[in-house]
Amino acid sequence: MLSPDPLIPWFENFVGIAYRYFEIRMNVVPLFSDLKKAQNFWRETAHWWNDHSIKIRFVETGDTYWFIMGAESRQAKNNKYLFKVLPKSPHYERFKKGHEGGAYLRLGTHTKKFKKDVKDDAKCNCGHIKEDHEEGDDNDACLYEECECKKFETFQINLLKKKKTVTDIKFLTEAEIKDDVLAWNCFSVHKYTKRE
Ligand SMILES: [Zn+2]
Ligand SMILES: [Zn+2]
Repeated sequence: MLSPDPLIPWFENFVGIAYRYFEIRMNVVPLFSDLKKAQNFWRETAHWWNDHSIKIRFVETGDTYWFIMGAESRQAKNNKYLFKVLPKSPHYERFKKGHEGGAYLRLGTHTKKFKKDVKDDAKCNCGHIKEDHEEGDDNDACLYEECECKKFETFQINLLKKKKTVTDIKFLTEAEIKDDVLAWNCFSVHKYTKRE
């Protein structure tokens, strides 16, 4: 059982979670804004987690959900729990339906790319590909008449190779969290009693 150790700090300095099919299992991928931060987090914290002790909790609150993750560590002084409140997305819903009780945990990077960084068929955040945007260094408005996009911009996600296997995944309602040590601990700290 994961101890509700109040000394283990909560970590929310990551940009979001990606859900990807990669190999046989679905992957849950906390995303970092750069590779160094992701590698540091793996080296200092995730590497030391015992796979069987890793818990992921999802608690839905309206259009958002809380992502909560914690584990027992072989190097307790660097242990951290992760949490973030995120908007529900089709990727999240697909994971919820398709995970079958297990997932790989990997870390990833989430970086902004501009027109010069990508191939012609790369998709802009507006939904249209690079070729459908104006050419030239200073002009890259989208050529679709109905589209408001003035600047080609996209995000690229890269997954790090190292992984852990997670088999303790639960989707809970807020009414159910009082029976779950990790989720309860997270809500106590971040919602029910605001820290000074
Ligand atoms: Zn665009
Ligand atoms: Zn567009």
